[in-house]
Amino acid sequence: MKEDYYDILGISKGASESEIKKAYRKMALKYHPDKNPDDKEAEEKFKKAAEAYEVLSNSDKKARYDQFGHQAFEGAGGFGGGGMNMDDIFSQFGDIFGGAFGGGFSGFGGGGRQRVVKGSNLRIRVKLSLEEVANGVEKKIKVKRKKQAPGTTYKTCGTCNGTGQVTRVTNTILGRMQTASACQTCGGAGQVIDKKPADADAQGLKVTEETVSVKIPTGVVDGMQLKVTGKGNDAPGNGISGDLLVLIQEEDHPTLKREGDNLHYDMYVSLPDAVLGTSKEIDTVTGKVRIKIDAGVQSGKILRLRGKGIPSINGYGKGDLLVHINVWTPKTLSKKQKEFFEEMKNDEHFEPKPESSDKSFFEKVKDMFS
Ligand SMILES: [Zn+2]
Repeated sequence: MKEDYYDILGISKGASESEIKKAYRKMALKYHPDKNPDDKEAEEKFKKAAEAYEVLSNSDKKARYDQFGHQAFEGAGGFGGGGMNMDDIFSQFGDIFGGAFGGGFSGFGGGGRQRVVKGSNLRIRVKLSLEEVANGVEKKIKVKRKKQAPGTTYKTCGTCNGTGQVTRVTNTILGRMQTASACQTCGGAGQVIDKKPADADAQGLKVTEETVSVKIPTGVVDGMQLKVTGKGNDAPGNGISGDLLVLIQEEDHPTLKREGDNLHYDMYVSLPDAVLGTSKEIDTVTGKVRIKIDAGVQSGKILRLRGKGIPSINGYGKGDLLVHINVWTPKTLSKKQKEFFEEMKNDEHFEPKPESSDKSFFEKVKDMFS
């Protein structure tokens, strides 16, 4: 059974607007988490009071609550069983305490946690051929990184005594409040530079060129970003280095077109080759492959070479190479050739007689994706 909102705030049903406000203020001050650190019970009461105030301070919600009780807020728009979260509660404080908290509210559970300072990330682009995408490659990349200059020494930050945080005590409407924020002097690291060589920057860092080896897995896609941990800029002192982010750019292949893990190849076959059959060698991402073209091949036929595509980035199998047959019709003919075809015109052997195996283009496309 859910507790009555008036009971929570300790007021009667007929309480006025200012009485409700006053009651909530009292509760909020008493159970505020900053005043009751690690007190679950106080936090629960604090939340309940906030929820009660949320309803009773709103004339529309109050009217519904007065008539229907908690049922008024069941389902959509109600609090359900979840109650209010702390952000909601603090956003409510602006109304009731007149912005006394400003931005200075630190939230909970702070207390002496030292921030780990991380160096900035570096970004580079790497161009890959389709063969490199298909087979994987290890790239040696020259990177200009900021590294800790040899000879730089550090000492404990005097402002924060090495904690990385400064606490400030302010008098607010809730009484004396402690707020903690990152130390401005050391940026939260707890250390400052003691001595540094002349050629190092203010943080004791120096740009150095380094060759980084990046292992590119098979099947990467254009626009993908790989992360090489710790190969970005160093952080000063005992901080950790940033990362090197490698943006993949795929170069166009002269004859192969990529579509996901599948590859497409357009093959042109002369009229005699189409009639008599032939075999042709084509480039694939793993080397050359000879393909047999049957006599009587139709233009638009697609030959599927299983597993001759790109390996899946997830490691699940490989795509296929789809060879599209295009029968090339000559645009000009010699007199003799023309005579030959004139003669064949009336030969019923040249009449198109598609069989069920000579599927239309659309049926083939349907097959490909099924
Ligand atoms: Zn400091």
